[in-house]
Amino acid sequence: MKILKLIGILLTGCWIKVVLAVDYETKTLASETDATNLSNYVYFYQEASPLGLNEVVKLSHSQWKKNNTQNINFGYTDSSYWLRTSFYNSEEQTSAYFLEIAYPVLDFLDIYVINSDSQKHYQLGDKYPFNNRVVQHYNFLIPINVKSREQVTVFIRVKSTSALQVPLNLWPKEKFYDEDQFRSIILGVFLGIILVMGLYNLFVYYKIKDNNYLYYVLYVFSIGMFFCSLTGLSFQYLWPNNTVWNDHLIAVFLNFAILFGTFFSRKLLAIRRSHPQLDKVFSFAISAALVCLILCTLLPYQLLIRITIYLAVFVCLLGLVSGIIRLFDGYPLARYYTFAWAAVLVGGIILAANKFVLLPNNWFTEHAAMIGISFEVACLSIAIAERVMQERRMRFKAQNTLLHFHRRNSQELEKRVKERTEDLESLNRKLKEANNTDALTLINNRRYFEKAFKEEYARCRRFKHNLSVLMIDIDYFKKVNDNYGHQAGDACLTLVAQVLLQSAQRTSDFVARYGGEEFCVFAPETHADQGVTFAEKIRNNVEQMEFMFNEQIIPVTVSIGLCCEIPEGETYEEHLRQADEALYQAKTNGRNRVEMAKAKSIHNS
Ligand code: GH3
Ligand code: MG
Ligand code: MG
Repeated sequence: MKILKLIGILLTGCWIKVVLAVDYETKTLASETDATNLSNYVYFYQEASPLGLNEVVKLSHSQWKKNNTQNINFGYTDSSYWLRTSFYNSEEQTSAYFLEIAYPVLDFLDIYVINSDSQKHYQLGDKYPFNNRVVQHYNFLIPINVKSREQVTVFIRVKSTSALQVPLNLWPKEKFYDEDQFRSIILGVFLGIILVMGLYNLFVYYKIKDNNYLYYVLYVFSIGMFFCSLTGLSFQYLWPNNTVWNDHLIAVFLNFAILFGTFFSRKLLAIRRSHPQLDKVFSFAISAALVCLILCTLLPYQLLIRITIYLAVFVCLLGLVSGIIRLFDGYPLARYYTFAWAAVLVGGIILAANKFVLLPNNWFTEHAAMIGISFEVACLSIAIAERVMQERRMRFKAQNTLLHFHRRNSQELEKRVKERTEDLESLNRKLKEANNTDALTLINNRRYFEKAFKEEYARCRRFKHNLSVLMIDIDYFKKVNDNYGHQAGDACLTLVAQVLLQSAQRTSDFVARYGGEEFCVFAPETHADQGVTFAEKIRNNVEQMEFMFNEQIIPVTVSIGLCCEIPEGETYEEHLRQADEALYQAKTNGRNRVEMAKAKSIHNS
């Protein structure tokens, strides 16, 4: 059996060589230093029914179509495609190459490498566990050694639910290692930016709990995971055995990015408040992303990713348009925001132009989308910081206004309280005065006299000073009332009070109406002689005053009882009683005179 099999393989090998002899355009390799894009040396065949290599090599030259573009892209298709390409080593020595298919989301790749004396079959694609790969790289890599003067033909059968793109490059091994390092650095820098921005803003969110930050962080991580999945990095490092979900997760992360990006844009640009109609479009985008996420397990990947891509383009345009609208509104944050989206779109356009060979293929055009997104992520981060600062400024302003208002209010209140207090004090003073004043004569009343006299008495008693007190009574006052009426009596009382006030000139002298037609005067620091002089002066002044009523002069005199001594008794009443007794004496002794307590009359009028 083994011998038969061997003969079979040998026969097949010979036959294949015959077929390969037919003239297909072949890339001649001569001291290659850079990667060769094999697209122009590729012939393809769309499978009508599943074929094996043996049938494919039997296909006639006319059944193959020459690929005439710089990239091989069959779009979304259910068909399997066969590609064939060949290259010839014109060198004198064997050269080592890597055949790279730089589109890591392809599902199934059967690669047959047919050398002059051997044939190898590789099964690649993300529907096989990552560890099965011959070279552990996120892109599909096949090592090929081409001997001197040897022609190698490669057949590739490709089938995928993703877009059927087959960027086919042939790298001299050394050059590949150089280039791959550079690519890794760029990817690392990009993912580093994403990771750092995401984590930093996550910490900021943790501290200030502003939802802008949360949406931003979720958006940034979603876009980061989307890129990791698209480049095959997450398949390589995160879920190398999850061949079922690997494709779907690309669409899932893109939908998450759409969802959180839309939430973020809506909040950052304050769309709900400023443009309620536009807000409905945002709500639609959010709902669509949510529906996609819910249906992601049910929809076939091919349909899901197509809807998601349309949605992503729609949301990008929506973001840009909204940014421009808000820019025209004069909304300050719209500058950063619009620039951010413009960066993403420009990056995407440059990448697309590169793919369609409208722009030269260099590291900038290759990585334009990543650069655009890095710019976006940085700009948006500045935008939210600016927004938070703006809110803080507004809050600060509002607080200041409130504070100013409060201060003004409390000043106003203070002023009013002061005015009221002054009013009250003045009223109090007036009340007190009224309380202490005799209503008719407007001099001190008896209540006040007793209070003041009590204090003065205590003071003089303590310092052993003389205190004179005078009890003054108008003589025959009843007659004034009886003869001229009470009005005359009142006027007389008022005039006598004025005379008493004028007579008592020392500031310490105290004049009061004691009751009826009786007055009281006390004079501190006044001994007996001075007291008598003072009393006489009063008596004389009253006698001399001209009391006119109804054009009649009515003579008025007073009798005065006087008590002058250094207070010794416990209470002041005794002092007063003595003065009163002296007054009684003065009345008895004929009126219009001064009598000293416990003494004989010292003066007759
Ligand atoms: P004497 O010389 O003995 O003091 O005789 P008098 O008439 O002054 O004394 P008397 O006590 O008999 O009369 C006092 C009068 O003073 C009686 C009262 O009608 C009058 N009188 C007391 N208070 C007032 C007052 O406020 N207004 C007026 N018009 N008369 C008053
Ligand atoms: Mg009298
Ligand atoms: Mg009297």
